[in-house]
Amino acid sequence: MKAIRSQNDLAINGAAPAFAEPLHVGKPNVANRDEFMRYAGDILDRGFLTNNGPLVRELEAAIADYHAVKHCVAMCNGTIALEIAIRALGLKGEVIVPSFTFIATAHALHWQEIVPVFADIDPESHLLDPDAVRAMITPKTTGIIAVHLWGRTSATGELMALAREFGLKLIFDAAHAFGCSYQGEKIGRFGECEVLSFHATKFFNTFEGGAVLTNNDELAEAMRLMRNFGFAGMDKVIHPGTNGKMSEISAAMGLANLISLEDLISHNKRNHEIYQEELSDLDGINLLPYDDKESNNYQYIVLLVEDGFPLSRDELIKTLHAENILARRYFWPGCHKMKPYSELYPHAGLLLSVTEDVADKVMVLPTGMSVKEEHIRLIASVIRVCSRTS
Ligand SMILES: *Cc1c(COP(=O)(O)O)cnc(C)c1O
Repeated sequence: MKAIRSQNDLAINGAAPAFAEPLHVGKPNVANRDEFMRYAGDILDRGFLTNNGPLVRELEAAIADYHAVKHCVAMCNGTIALEIAIRALGLKGEVIVPSFTFIATAHALHWQEIVPVFADIDPESHLLDPDAVRAMITPKTTGIIAVHLWGRTSATGELMALAREFGLKLIFDAAHAFGCSYQGEKIGRFGECEVLSFHATKFFNTFEGGAVLTNNDELAEAMRLMRNFGFAGMDKVIHPGTNGKMSEISAAMGLANLISLEDLISHNKRNHEIYQEELSDLDGINLLPYDDKESNNYQYIVLLVEDGFPLSRDELIKTLHAENILARRYFWPGCHKMKPYSELYPHAGLLLSVTEDVADKVMVLPTGMSVKEEHIRLIASVIRVCSRTS
């Protein structure tokens, strides 16, 4: 592997790239190929491909157990899981969400003719700010969807108190937070329910997939009906519904990935520590820390490029891309600046100054099973050389 010691070694200045093959953010973790193939063979032998099959039920039980929660309702993806949770809880009117999130959080509401009202985030945690939420509550507000962004859990206690005070339904978008905890308790039990995504790029993947975790029996039952057209038995429909079912092959991927969950967490944790070691002394570069008192999956290496760094965030990304290090902006420029919201609420940004500031500074670096220590040392050496630009 080549060494980066000076400006002259940078690909942007004409040298060969540091990596011959691109290093992606969110490269899927596929830990147990043989186990997956064995499950796939079993599925074909059984001829039971979908419709709440045995592997889906096994995966639901394992995920519920892992999060110490009563119900895991598996779905075809995280967005449909959010939509079904929103509908099952009867949300309408306005629902408060962060703008600094993946667009699906807002779309899941807009798709059902509910108005997503964007509230600002805390500058340190990047999570929904309970005071900002309070300021956005109107007589039309029926709920709050908080996002456990980067797998760091929301100001859960404060948001639950606020929801109680105003009689609002609280959902957590936990798409980043598989296995993460709040004050020592795994997510899944907080608010009305918590929604996971098992998309290929997420910490835990089932190709495409998602689930809702809850301790509420009635809510779980309603969502089980709604994900399967409202069927309560052969020829018997008792509820409106859609098709939100997870297939057996997705569940097979999930069961195979569950086997190496702890290895993946410790690998990601070690990667985060190496990044921290390498980058902590650089002015204008801030690596977002994880709280080691909590359970974390360490899936996101989040860097803030501040004013003290000689390059802008976008210039640094361009330099890294030339080296085949495909670092990415994330959630830029904020949901409120994307259509249809930018046209529906053109002035939303006036109350979202932290969101806009963070969205302009954040970048995410590669990690996961395929990223090794020497890769990180090399990535860091590129950033170090850039820090000496003047
Ligand atoms: C990935 C993601 C979703 C959507 O999940 P899909 O499984 O891709 O539909 C929703 N919210 C957040 C915060 C996400 O990161």
